[in-house]
Amino acid sequence: MNALTWLFLLALALATATRLWLALRQIRHVGAHAGAVPETFADAIPLSAHRKAADYTAAKARLGMLDVAIGAAVVLALTVGGLLQALSEAWAAAFAPGSLAHGTALLLSVFFVQAIVSLPLAFYRTFVLEQRFGFNRMTLGLFLADLAKQTALALAIGVPLILAVLWLMQRMGGYWWLYVWLVVTAFTLVFQLIFAPVILPLFNKLTPITEGELAGRVARLLERCGFKSSGLYLMDGSKRSSHGNAFFAGFGAGKRIVLFDTLVERLEPAEVEAVLAHELGHYKLHHIVKMLVLGAALSLAGLFILGQLIGEPWFYSGLGVRTPGTAAALALFMLVVPEFTFFLHPLTSLYSRRREYEADAYARLHADARCLVQALVKLYKDNAATLTPDPLHSAFYDSHPPAAMRIARLRAP
Ligand SMILES: [Zn+2]
Repeated sequence: MNALTWLFLLALALATATRLWLALRQIRHVGAHAGAVPETFADAIPLSAHRKAADYTAAKARLGMLDVAIGAAVVLALTVGGLLQALSEAWAAAFAPGSLAHGTALLLSVFFVQAIVSLPLAFYRTFVLEQRFGFNRMTLGLFLADLAKQTALALAIGVPLILAVLWLMQRMGGYWWLYVWLVVTAFTLVFQLIFAPVILPLFNKLTPITEGELAGRVARLLERCGFKSSGLYLMDGSKRSSHGNAFFAGFGAGKRIVLFDTLVERLEPAEVEAVLAHELGHYKLHHIVKMLVLGAALSLAGLFILGQLIGEPWFYSGLGVRTPGTAAALALFMLVVPEFTFFLHPLTSLYSRRREYEADAYARLHADARCLVQALVKLYKDNAATLTPDPLHSAFYDSHPPAAMRIARLRAP
């Protein structure tokens, strides 16, 4: 126990209390506004759908509160609770302490503990909560197959990365953090590149869309915007959930446009086109590149700070670890940083909401703004997304502006 212990406990308590308080505010706010559909949506969304959205939002927030409480308990147990130290000692029976094998086993066991603890909630979310509101399409078999594939993939990708990072930390002297940053950044870029062509097909079937009204509309939209893509694909998202979505993946000429089948089923081709114009806006306005640059800058700052902490005995003893080491330092850092940076959330959310308005403005120029409004209304209705979020909860977390504000801007002359 030292000053860091108290500082960390204070940060954890403040962040956890704020997360719970925001969730309570959200539950109360949507409940208080469940009785009447906001004016903007009065023609398009029936009261029953509005009520369902309120119930769904509140149910998700309640489950989120449980998630927050469990997450805080796990972080507490692993750090000052001494679990990380206990795991390190247990692995010392099999591998020499300080070796790459020992460090890798320690980090994997931390991830494993977190994954195991979050599993029951993930199960509940899919088979109870989503099921109750009619969104779940996942079978138990698919849930287990996904879990097995995700675990295998995480190990196949994660183990070499952990080995590389630990090796650099031990061999590269005082500037190890710079080398680790280069490797992690390169890894992130490669992951972005292989995500759509390699990883996505492991979980979903992707069918190229080459004919029909939609393909024609998309081709003309891309032409108008001067955008090259390596194809338009339909993804069978409906085998997991009835929530709809669309996204772009990849870089350069290898970019793929992926549409969930659930989106294409519900929206008219002109509405899909407008949604895609919005997504195209994110690309054309360099939002993706900016996010990657911002992420790289933040990870450089984080690794630099860890570079300063790693040699300090108080960093370990303050967080429940008696035997310092590179893997323990990495694990502690990953566990405690989110508690210290939680109050930066409103800033990143604000940044993201600005990008959404910019992408909407782009969509207005290159597609029909009325179609984007119609698409948004349909998506809010079908996904039971709340139209009346608590303003503070929204300011903290929401990456997208509230629907009414987006629509007001899209309708403005
Ligand atoms: Zn967007």
